[in-house]
Amino acid sequence: MQAAHKIPDWAPKGDTKDVGLDYDDTYTAAPGPFGEMVRAMQREGHRVYFVTYRGADEFGPVIKVADMLGIAAVATDGAPKMRTMDNLGVSIDIWIDDMPELIFEDQSGV
Ligand SMILES: [Mg+2]
Repeated sequence: MQAAHKIPDWAPKGDTKDVGLDYDDTYTAAPGPFGEMVRAMQREGHRVYFVTYRGADEFGPVIKVADMLGIAAVATDGAPKMRTMDNLGVSIDIWIDDMPELIFEDQSGV
């Protein structure tokens, strides 16, 4: 099951960007540096979202870190990440992901 945590209301972007940050093996590979990056992006007005392939049943640990960083989080439950975010009304400008194919494809590669 998909789940979304604290998605902000739509707002005009202006010069700011929406950034989709993968959790497993991306953020978790280097939590310190990625945490610093998130804070630096926030200082400049950009919005960072965790976008994870996890399902709602595995979402808890991601939410915990998202709350610590003050960002929103989405669990796509195996659905393509870009389509899931588009359906939520969030157009991600920049993706950061160790498995970029999952931005467009589901687990079967379709
Ligand atoms: Mg990953």
